[in-house]
Order: sequence, then C-alpha cells, then structure tokens
Amino acid sequence: MDLLEYQGKEFFASFGIPTSEGTAVTDVDAAVVAADAVGYPVVVKAQVHVGGRGKAGGVKLANDADEVRLHAGNILGLDIKGHIVRTVWVEHASDIATEYYASFTLDRSAKKHLGMLSAQGGVEIEAVAESDPDAIAKIWIDPVDGLSEQTCRDWVAAAKLDPASADDVVALLLKLYTAYTEGDADLCEVNPLIITTAGKAHALDAKVTLDANAEYRHEGWDVYAATQLRDEREEAAHAKGLNYVGLDGSVGIIANGAGLAMSTLDVVNQVGGSAANFLDIGGGANADVMAGALEIINRDPRVKSIFINIFGGITRGEEVAKGILEALERVEITSPIVIRLDGTNATEGRAMLEPHLSDMLQSQPTMLDAARRAVELAGGRS
Ligand code: GDP
Ligand code: MN
Repeated sequence: MDLLEYQGKEFFASFGIPTSEGTAVTDVDAAVVAADAVGYPVVVKAQVHVGGRGKAGGVKLANDADEVRLHAGNILGLDIKGHIVRTVWVEHASDIATEYYASFTLDRSAKKHLGMLSAQGGVEIEAVAESDPDAIAKIWIDPVDGLSEQTCRDWVAAAKLDPASADDVVALLLKLYTAYTEGDADLCEVNPLIITTAGKAHALDAKVTLDANAEYRHEGWDVYAATQLRDEREEAAHAKGLNYVGLDGSVGIIANGAGLAMSTLDVVNQVGGSAANFLDIGGGANADVMAGALEIINRDPRVKSIFINIFGGITRGEEVAKGILEALERVEITSPIVIRLDGTNATEGRAMLEPHLSDMLQSQPTMLDAARRAVELAGGRS
C-alpha cells in the first residue's frame, strides 16, 4: 500500500522523525488558509502516487498568499505521469544546505533489509545508481540483529556525509529504521533528506509503502486504504470480493485456484496471446461467483474473448456447468467464451454444457486447446 507524501510524513512524524508542519487541502482557498497558518514562505506540493513531481511542476515555493493562489491553482488538476492532482500539501518551506538520500527496503534474495544512503540526494536515485554507483552506500541488515548505532555511524561515514551533521543524521536514520520495521513498511525512502542551514537533519520528502498484510495490526491504516489508487476494474472486482488483478491483454481469464489461474496466463502467453486479467474464483464455482466474475470481465473494453478454465476438485463438474449456465442467464456477454472443464465429473459437466454451445460459448477438452481457441477468437497476439 503506497502512501501519499503527506501520509508518509505523518507516518514518519509518529516515529519522531523531523518533518515540516503542513496541511493537505483540495482547493485554492484552503491552500491559502493553510499557508497563512504555517507561515511564509511555504512549499505547495502535489500529492500523487508517483515521484518526480518537482520536475513536472508539482512542487513550488510561494512567498505570499498570491503566489500560493497561483501555484495551488496550477498544481490542482495537473496531470503528472497520468495521475491527476486532487490534493496539495502546503508546508512551511525549509532552508536547505544539503540534500541527501536515504532508504530502507527489503532485499528478498538476501533475506535482509537493505539500507541505501547517498550524499547525492534530491535527484532520482536510479540516475545516481547509473552514473555513479559508488556514491550509494549500501548496508544489509539482519532483521534479528537490527541496526546498531555504531553500524549506522559507520554507514554514514561510508556514504561520505558531512561529519558535522553525522549525529543528527544517525539519529534520524535509526528512527527511520524503527519506522520501517515496527511500522510494517516495505519501503521507507527519504529523498531528499536535508540538512537545514541551521544544521538539522530533516525529511523533506517521504515515500512509504506499507505491507498490506499487516493491516490488521494497525487501526489507523484505514485512512491510507481510502486514498489508494486502484485500477477501476480491480476496484469493482474487490467490491465483489474477487481475487482479481487487471492486466493489459485481450483474453479475459476465469480460473479456480490461484495456481491454475497463473498457469492459464502462462499457457495463453505460450500460444501467442495475452491475458486481460488474473482472476481466481476459488474453490466453488457457483452461479453467484461466476456471474460476478463474468460481469467484471465483460465490462473490460480490452477483453476480446473469455477463457473459463475450471478443474473440478471438491466442486463437481455438474455444479460448475450449472453455475456457468445460470450466470450466463444473468449476464449479457459480449465476447465469445471458451470453456475448459476438467476434473471431478467433467464428462457430466460437459454434457450439461453441450446443448448450449454456440459461436459465443465453446468448449475445448484441454487447457492448451482452449487457450489456442481463446487467443484465436481474441484476434491473436495483442
Ligand atoms: P519529488 O520531485 O516528487 O521527489 O518532490 P520533492 O519533495 O523531493 O521535492 C523536489 C525538490 O523540491 C527537492 O529536492 C527540493 O530541492 C525542492 N524543495 C522541496 N521542498 C522544499 C523546501 O521546503 N525548500 C526548498 N528550498 N526547496 C524545496
Ligand atoms: Mn523527492
């Protein structure tokens, strides 16, 4: 779950990390009120789930109410890499002496936390990694050991940060590590981590990804969930309780079981097509679930054919067939469907489908045949 900058800063502040005071607003008048409250100069910052806002004109300094009006007016409604700005964060502007980069994330292959620190902050870290990889000091932290103050101090020295502000940076990094671990984050990035002209370390930006699996442990996370950007299709599927992920291809997929759904995507790919989605309807394939799944897929303009891949286990073939037929009575389908029904009582199930087969509802004996047919109907590779 990705947080907006202002939510990330609230998250940081709750762990004692210094951030600037500010307010999130959604219109120009409120931006002026917020600016008056924190005191000029202020920074007006677009709140979207993408980086590089500064370059895109989404971060502006304002010295008075008129400038706030101008900048907030320009930024609200701005399109930043396909994200329309609906909220701006107005904070008291900082006086910057130096811009650093700091982050903690998970290195899954190393089974450790990865800390990255650089004296070259402010710019995109990918650019630094490319042009001057030695400018990024990395440490791998065993989650059992944690990050000691001494290790942190050595790390700051290795990154060649200004020794004069080392104490303050170490204190901030230790808090950031606590926020990252105790806060159940997958990523905590501060770019830039600034040293103010008064010599204080301060988080000027916040990029935080929380581990959605830990949501049950954090009551306050509801507000973050509410501002999540979801694919419209995923939103609708989520509301129906379906395990759905939107993709870019043209073959709509319905399968029972996550493993089978994954294999279905692979097979569709293998025969030259591409899936419009991942959708696992779980163990049962009753009419309600099937109708819900078909509705979601049918609504997707990318979809040119639908591949229903069911392997009957505990759910018998007749129940699956009944579910599909009932669902088809409820939903007006606009793309041809190819069904592969196998497993327990598949023969009985297929026999039930038989009288209903047409150009719009086809049956194939194997997963491979069905995938080929569905891809053909979708017009081949998309
Ligand atoms: P990003 O472009 O999306 O990463 O947005 P940032 O929050 O990192 O802001 C981009 C840049 O704007 C920073 O690297 C700073 O150089 C500048 N900036 C942001 N806030 C302030 C501020 O309070 N004072 C000053 N002087 N510059 C700021
Ligand atoms: Mn930034």
